[in-house]
Amino acid sequence: MIPITAVSFGPEEEQRVLEVIRSGIIAQGPVVAEFERRFAEIAGTEHAIAVNNGTTSLIASIQVLDLKPGDEVITSPFTFVATLNAILEAGATAVFADIREDDFNIDPANVRSLVTERTKAIMPVHLYGQMADMDPIAEIAEEFGLAIIEDSAQSHGAEYRGRRAGSYGLGSFSFYATKNLTTGEGGMITTNDAALADKLRVLRNQGMRARYQYEVAGNNYRLTDLQAALVLPQLDRYDGIVEQRQRNAAKLNEGLTGIRGLHLPQQLEGRRHVWHQYTVRLDDTAKLSRDAFVEALGEAGIGCGIYYPKVVFDYDAYLTNPLVKTSEVPVATRVAAGSVSLPVHVHLSDEDIETIIATVRRLLGE
Ligand SMILES: *Cc1c(COP(=O)(O)O)cnc(C)c1O
Repeated sequence: MIPITAVSFGPEEEQRVLEVIRSGIIAQGPVVAEFERRFAEIAGTEHAIAVNNGTTSLIASIQVLDLKPGDEVITSPFTFVATLNAILEAGATAVFADIREDDFNIDPANVRSLVTERTKAIMPVHLYGQMADMDPIAEIAEEFGLAIIEDSAQSHGAEYRGRRAGSYGLGSFSFYATKNLTTGEGGMITTNDAALADKLRVLRNQGMRARYQYEVAGNNYRLTDLQAALVLPQLDRYDGIVEQRQRNAAKLNEGLTGIRGLHLPQQLEGRRHVWHQYTVRLDDTAKLSRDAFVEALGEAGIGCGIYYPKVVFDYDAYLTNPLVKTSEVPVATRVAAGSVSLPVHVHLSDEDIETIIATVRRLLGE
């Protein structure tokens, strides 16, 4: 079986975790601070605030904007459920812009058409490792005075015209076990806004600035040194990890080109794709339906994933929720029905990639 993701660590990770265990400081301490300093470099921001997971990083990013009931956040309908849950948890109303087929991310023209007096933030999701079309999104935000919260959970180190994911306003990252960088569970908020960074640090720690000085009703959003230790050696290797993923994606694209009904993922002009997922799309002219293709891949020993089977609000729990404003999203609906992700991770051998290519060609070729 070639797995869709694989997690493995070396002696450096073991050593760093061991040092934390022996130090006696296992909760948030100096290793979390080191992680924050180093991750700020990856996002190209002045500040980075570590939290306990990616969902929390989204929730906290919305909470520091001090939204009022009824205030709206425009986001993508083609995302992991955490994006929507975070908006609801923070008490905001979720609005959905349709996506583009070429990058799977929100379409700026559609975002513009949804802006109302209630809109307070745009939350693009940089899906699969490639950033949304940020120039027009930043323009809309500027024109209407909206905050930008980038759900960059899948896009550590991705770039758009030389600017890093997480550097447009508030950036939100996840370090869940399957992400490009991992602490098991973990999250990070990045920003160049010193005042917001300060608010986030207070919010993360029970709303407390100095001991027993509570400024706001906060929470415990803290990451631990034990978790942060695991990621430091990965940061040292991260450029190499991205290059490996890029090489794997390029080989897959080369080997899978020219199959009827199969659309391959592309790194768009001016962007650095970090290939969290390699996601192909089948259209109606393909030899197999998406679901039949997934089943056949499984039988052939090739792990694959459907991220995500439906648009995010298309579940009873959300369709009946007054804080979820649904809309027609024909592109996202079609893309969700036809997409499947193939392995692209760093533990793939050349032989694995050849096997994936040969199997897909056998299943979908003429
Ligand atoms: C993983 C992920 C999250 C949530 O991160 P957790 O660390 O699992 O809470 C949010 N948004 C997207 C797009 C994700 O892929």
